Amino acid sequence: MVISKTIQLHADPTANQQQMCIIDITHQVEQQVTGTDINSGIVTLFVAGSTAGISTIEFESGLLSDFQGMWERNAPKNIPYDHNRRWGDGNGHSHVRASLLGASLVVPFNDKRLSLGTWQQIVLVDFDNRPRSRQIVLQIMGE
Ligand code: ZN
Repeated sequence: MVISKTIQLHADPTANQQQMCIIDITHQVEQQVTGTDINSGIVTLFVAGSTAGISTIEFESGLLSDFQGMWERNAPKNIPYDHNRRWGDGNGHSHVRASLLGASLVVPFNDKRLSLGTWQQIVLVDFDNRPRSRQIVLQIMGE
């Protein structure tokens, strides 16, 4: 069986200094999975859009800060981007970061429990330079 679900989120990367919005969506994914008749299988999460990504992280302030620092070192905001020269929207770094992180994640589950580590949360990371409405598509497959 395959069941499609969506999670709608509002993300505002401009609300903090790092211009990055990291949202813990673990509980919402769990709710969607337990709301189906599928007991065991996999859930694929995919975010539509080229300036956001999905991953897992230990959702604590120290690591969140380290994670944000890593993006600034590897794809800094204030360097020239051809994308910005071409389109003038100023979010070249957002696109590069999103491509590097990836738009999807697969999480197995058994007896309706996600196979996550104790300190492992599922996160949407929005890298854009303006507030966005985000849609995450869940494809839940199993039996
Ligand atoms: Zn752009």
